[in-house]
Amino acid sequence: MQSWGNLPYDPPCRQRRLFDRAAPLPTGEAPLLAYGNGRSYGDVCINSGGELLQTRGLDRYLAFDDATGILRAEAGVLLDDIIRVFLPRGWFLPVTPGTRFVTLGGALANDVHGKNHHVAGTFGCHVPRFELLRSDGGRIECSPTENAELFAATIGGLGLTGLVTWIELRLRRVPGPAIAVENRRFHGLAEFFALNIEAEKTHEHVVAWIDCLAREPRGILMAGNHAAASAAAVPPAPTFSPAVPFTPPLSLVNRASLAAFNAAYFHKPLPARATVHCLPYFYPLDNLLYWNRIYGRRGFYQYQCAVPQAVQQDATAALLAAIRESGQGSFLAVLKTLGDMASPGMLSYPLPGANLALDFPNGGAHTLELFKRLDAIVRDAGGRLYPAKDARMPGDLFRQGYPQWRKFSQYVDPKFSSNFWRRVAG
Ligand SMILES: Cc1cc2nc3c(=O)[nH]c(=O)nc-3n(C[C@H](O)[C@H](O)[C@H](O)COP(=O)(O)OP(=O)(O)OC[C@H]3O[C@@H](n4cnc5c(N)ncnc54)[C@H](O)[C@@H]3O)c2cc1C
Repeated sequence: MQSWGNLPYDPPCRQRRLFDRAAPLPTGEAPLLAYGNGRSYGDVCINSGGELLQTRGLDRYLAFDDATGILRAEAGVLLDDIIRVFLPRGWFLPVTPGTRFVTLGGALANDVHGKNHHVAGTFGCHVPRFELLRSDGGRIECSPTENAELFAATIGGLGLTGLVTWIELRLRRVPGPAIAVENRRFHGLAEFFALNIEAEKTHEHVVAWIDCLAREPRGILMAGNHAAASAAAVPPAPTFSPAVPFTPPLSLVNRASLAAFNAAYFHKPLPARATVHCLPYFYPLDNLLYWNRIYGRRGFYQYQCAVPQAVQQDATAALLAAIRESGQGSFLAVLKTLGDMASPGMLSYPLPGANLALDFPNGGAHTLELFKRLDAIVRDAGGRLYPAKDARMPGDLFRQGYPQWRKFSQYVDPKFSSNFWRRVAG
């Protein structure tokens, strides 16, 4: 089994079985781990030498309350399925990551965030209840008032507290599929942060693409709101998404292709205002299926970190300078700020400050050397890396960034583990 970054794991992760809702959990010696849709970039969903329990068979809707918007569904249901069923009825996800091909269980276990973190917090903020299956056979219902500690440990708990079988999610009403977007180019981080403050006052969804190779960081800030619009005014969502058909031996992403892409993207014609369909707005990358294959057989890393508000501009500048100097970088570079709404998860990633995410082809030692430099900046800033995107952070950086990890470890199911956890918790 692989994760989204297609990085090689030694030993490879081969043992897997489809989780059967009617059967007990396997009782052998091998450590267990739930596997949703493998959209995590690194090793939070990898369990070399252990067994992966694939949850996609947990695909039933169990209940929906039209008055509150609370949907109860099994944990293998994809966000994509929920959108297909509920958007035509005027409901949308309260929080969504940049791909809709993730399961409810995966979204809970990484406590994912979206472009609206400043007003909506994380996915877990909208989960009133779920059921957890432990390796002793216990089925435990968890909510903020019932088994509250296990509730907090499981949200953002990286699949380590057991297998979540069903989840309640509070959907939000939307006037339709339209998003009214405002686009602004910016030059320099000072301009980005100033524009961002204003955009967050008036917009629910705010994110920026950033050209990480430019001498002075530049980019495009995109701010959007759900909007009422006649069907004729909203361009339809694409009905067909092409796929990258195979993995080339070498990465197609290199310094030359990146610089050309970034310059062209920055200067593309950009309407100041537009009404668009929410699917291409929230999920531009889902329009090219298996785009991760373009990084070739060695795969790729994502480096995603959050740094506190007080130092966000300086730390982001230092990170971008180190990346530019290294000559490595990506066209998928995202900068956004995270708000101060507390997450219910003990190990949740977001902190109030700036969040930077960039993809890097796996260039071996050269890439890992750059990450060491970036780690030092994040460490000094008092920031943290995002486990959902990580495949290599050193244990000490994890433990510094997530000081609650010791308390969390009391709730880890003794039969569950992952490559990530063995690496960072020792
Ligand atoms: C293109 C792209 C864009 C993305 N954008 C964002 C973004 O904007 N914000 C963001 O936060 N993340 C983002 N992500 C990351 C992604 O949302 C998370 O990694 C998500 O958790 C993946 O869900 P999955 O169903 O594929 O789970 P997997 O990757 O298979 O597993 C993730 C974790 O969930 C656990 N898990 C899965 N199912 C269960 C279950 N039933 N019970 C217990 N544990 C379970 C696994 O053990 C593992 O630890 C993005 C990923 C991609 C590929």
